[in-house]
Amino acid sequence: MGKRLSGKKIAKEIFAGIKEDIEQQQITPKLVILLIGNDPAAEYYVQNLEKKGLKIGIEVETSILNASIDQQSLLEKINTLNKDPFVNGIMLQKPLPAQLDESEIVMMINPQKDVDAFHPINMGNLVLEKEGFIPATPAAVLELLSYYEIETSGKHIVIVGRSDIVGKPMANLLLRKDKTGNATVTICHSRTKDLAYHTKQADILIAAIGKPQFIKPDMINENAIIIDVGVNQIEDAEKGYRYVGDVDYSGCFDKAAAITPVPGGIGTITTSVLLKNVLFACKKQSKN
Ligand code: NDP
Repeated sequence: MGKRLSGKKIAKEIFAGIKEDIEQQQITPKLVILLIGNDPAAEYYVQNLEKKGLKIGIEVETSILNASIDQQSLLEKINTLNKDPFVNGIMLQKPLPAQLDESEIVMMINPQKDVDAFHPINMGNLVLEKEGFIPATPAAVLELLSYYEIETSGKHIVIVGRSDIVGKPMANLLLRKDKTGNATVTICHSRTKDLAYHTKQADILIAAIGKPQFIKPDMINENAIIIDVGVNQIEDAEKGYRYVGDVDYSGCFDKAAAITPVPGGIGTITTSVLLKNVLFACKKQSKN
């Protein structure tokens, strides 16, 4: 394991594995992305998924919906996709306009097509260690741990962030009695007192905060492994803007045992894991 834990090779291997599986099984998994409005970052992410899907044999169709769409029309659209036997996965791209009730929409997606794993049934299966979808970002962290053979058993892993899509599923996955689990997990959040006390205890620190370069070198332990989930756009004098993580990468680099870069770390793996979920959905549905 080098000091810089790049995600590029991991993503490449996952994409190659999906492509091979699809070719062998002669199937064409299909994902439909619901893109509401015209958020530039969301459009960029979706276009990237379309391109990657095309290369490996997954059909990725984006359904662009007007930003003023009402709740009922969106629920009807999802119902149609739920019933369509040619659609294996449904993904609701965020952010959603304010008039929409996200929790009701998530409940409407057929859990077997919920490749983001946001539905309570999928979250429940995750917590109970049953087979099912794993949300892409925590799954990407597990892929990274596995690839670099980072031992988690008995290690103290501190997660900063308790969101439904990153922190909570991440903590539960690390508690599982399996190869990338058996950790002792601490979850921190905005109400945690003396955050640095906790982050300094970590053998492995996972940052999912949404604040650029928030974790500083004086907040980490000498030989900690740092996994940065954050993606934040900041101003850049030359390029206009650039992306940084939730960790001060250059500040923490010397002190940490290993650290993921942003970009080129967890975010790079996320797309491949999401498309792996579409393949999983397609295979499962073909057995029904
Ligand atoms: P959320 O905003 O939903 O959650 C952020 C979490 O950080 C909350 O639990 C919040 O605490 C906590 N937090 C905020 N400020 C502090 C603070 N000062 N001290 C301690 N904890 C704090 O974000 P997400 O989980 O959706 O995303 C987190 C980061 O990961 C973002 O940078 C996002 O862009 C990135 N991301 C990356 C993905 C990838 O594939 N690489 C995918 C998804 C997200 P509280 O609950 O108390 O408010």
